[in-house]
Amino acid sequence: MSDLNSTLKLLGITDSNITVSDVRDEIRGHGQGRKKYQVVHAELTYFLERCPSCGMPALRRNGHIRTRIHVNGPTDCPVILELDKQRWRCRNCRSTLTATTPVVKPNHAISTGISEYALKLSKLAIPGKQIASITGISTTSIERIIDDDIKPHPLNYLPVNLCFDEFRSTHSTMSFICIDADTHKRVTVLGDRLSATIKDFFKSHYSSEQRAGVKHICMDMNAAYQNFSHELFPNAEIVIDRFHVIQLIGRAMDQMSMSVIKCRKMAI
Ligand SMILES: [Zn+2]
Repeated sequence: MSDLNSTLKLLGITDSNITVSDVRDEIRGHGQGRKKYQVVHAELTYFLERCPSCGMPALRRNGHIRTRIHVNGPTDCPVILELDKQRWRCRNCRSTLTATTPVVKPNHAISTGISEYALKLSKLAIPGKQIASITGISTTSIERIIDDDIKPHPLNYLPVNLCFDEFRSTHSTMSFICIDADTHKRVTVLGDRLSATIKDFFKSHYSSEQRAGVKHICMDMNAAYQNFSHELFPNAEIVIDRFHVIQLIGRAMDQMSMSVIKCRKMAI
C-alpha cells in the first residue's frame, strides 16, 4: 500500500476499489463561511463483466464522473473526498452506469460514515449548528440527515399482511406503527394515532388496487382501527393478535383478584 493509500486507512475507508492519487489543502466558501478543507483526490474503479440492464458482456469504459464527498477526517479540518467514479456504457442496450461504493449512496455528497456520526451527535442532544461545525457540513444538511432518520420513507409497496400497533413516543403522545407481518419490515411510523392521519396516509401513498390486495391486518382491540380498516382495505380480514388477548386476560385477572382481596378485607 502506498503512502497515499494509507490516507484511506486514516479516513476509515476500507473500499479497496478506491485509489488515492493526491492530497491537498483547499480554501472554500465566502466571507465568514470561508474554511480550510483537506481534499483527497481518488479514483473509484473495478472490473465489471456484464451489463446489469441486459446481462450481456458488452460493457465499455466510458470515462469518469467527478464527485465531491464530505467524509470523516482524523483531525478538526473537514475532509472532502474528490472521487472520480468509473462510468461504463453498454454496446448492446446503450445504457450507462456509474461505479458505486459503500462509502456514499449514489447521488449523495455526504458519506454514510459522516451521516452516522452526525446522527450519533444529535442523539447526545448537541445542537445542529454545533454538529455542522464539528462535521464540516452545512446546518441544512444536518437537518436533512436528522429529518430522514426521524421521518423514514414509507415502503413503496403495500405488503399483503399488515400489523398495526401504537407506542408511547415523545411528549407522552401515542404514535402509530405499521409493519409487514411476514418480514417485520417497517411500512410507516406516524406522529399520532388519529384515524384521520392514518386514513390520509394510506390513501395518499397507496392506490385503491394496492389497498385491495391486503389480505390480513393484525391489531389489538382498538375499535377505531377496525372501523377504518374495512374502508381502507376492503378485502382484509382483521386478526386480533394473541399478545393483546393475553394482556387483556391478564389485566382482567388482576382486577378480579384485587376486588376479591378488597371484599375479604371488608368482611373481616
Ligand atoms: Zn446492456
